[in-house]
Amino acid sequence: LVPRLQPFTSTIFAEMTALAVQHDAVNLGQGFPDTDGPLSMLEAARSAISSGVNQYPPGPGMPVLRIAVAAHRSRYGLSYDPDSEILVTVGATEAIAASLLALVEAGDEVILIEPYYDSYAASVAMAGASRVTVGLREDSSGRLALDVDALRAAVTPRTRAILVNSPHNPTGTVFRLEELQAIAALCIEHDLLAITDEVYEHLVFDGLTHIPLASLPGMASRTLSISGAGKTFNCTGWKIGWVCGPAALVSAVRAAKQFMTFVGGAPFQPAVAHALTAELDWVAGLRDSLASKRARLAEGLRAAGFEVRSSEGTYFICADVRPLGYEDGWQLCRDLPARIGVAAVPVQVFTDRPDEWKHLIRFAFCKQDAVIDEAVERLHKL
Ligand code: PMP
Ligand code: GLN
Repeated sequence: LVPRLQPFTSTIFAEMTALAVQHDAVNLGQGFPDTDGPLSMLEAARSAISSGVNQYPPGPGMPVLRIAVAAHRSRYGLSYDPDSEILVTVGATEAIAASLLALVEAGDEVILIEPYYDSYAASVAMAGASRVTVGLREDSSGRLALDVDALRAAVTPRTRAILVNSPHNPTGTVFRLEELQAIAALCIEHDLLAITDEVYEHLVFDGLTHIPLASLPGMASRTLSISGAGKTFNCTGWKIGWVCGPAALVSAVRAAKQFMTFVGGAPFQPAVAHALTAELDWVAGLRDSLASKRARLAEGLRAAGFEVRSSEGTYFICADVRPLGYEDGWQLCRDLPARIGVAAVPVQVFTDRPDEWKHLIRFAFCKQDAVIDEAVERLHKL
């Protein structure tokens, strides 16, 4: 393995899921739902398979899906040409990797907000670039917020791009308008490319709203906005994602993507197009149900002795292990499956400053209530 990929031989999700399977643990580690998406979407995929939609789709993605994505983005006041400004990818993961491979040079710096989703660091490394990380910082209300001063200090003459994930995995932070405005101001001042990961765009709670960075003044022309169907429609295994942006940037991403996977997921594309068009009420129900699952798990974690951080969106909530007498979340997560039959994920593995984050572990609440309750019952044995 080439040296720049040596830190990336395994993922925490594969590691913790393997432990969960080995010990028959309740898996609140890897974030995936345990119920299916809307029936009409499943039916649309079945009928696409039955009616012969089983060969390579067009390179940029099937037109019906690109048109549906454009209509979906227009809900934020953003306008994209389905032919030249939207590219369908194999999940958001490929969109992120292809964007970096296409637009970042070896030696460039890419700013990541820490903790960061694990594929970002690996994709930056594959592009031969280096990452510069800026930690979220707990504000007076206990919210993990953007540290605007640290972000400003992280920009150097080599900075090419910033990757922004909101709603944020693993913390559940949803960036406010002022935080996005600060990011936008820096991008404009230093002529940076913004790459946004919005896969949890619909999973936002407490009346907060998801604001795409591209919708801020001056940002549409320099932003690649990435999202996907997995989290919105409970179909993480379908791996249908997309990237929207100005034609010149999207055609660059397409150049990289066509030699990574060429195309993917033919029968799932019309099914996701259908869901984006006809099942947003279902998604509103999913969001409400996840908000109540978050409350259920938060209450259970508190009762078991954890101190819980706020989560404003996504599938995830973070808990501080120190009140239970532990110091190192990674050590605890390694022990949990065998000791009490629960799997969680340490937050420090998503950072370059593990010491600052080692007290937090992440739990996924995108599970049936009975599963959450079983996990909580087991956690009481800690
Ligand atoms: N970004 C974030 C923040 C995620 O949590 C995930 C994980 N599911 C992805 C990207 C990957 O999305 P996909 O499965 O569509 O590749
Ligand atoms: N995005 C999911 C999570 O954060 C897992 C995806 C994966 O297994 N790579 O848990």
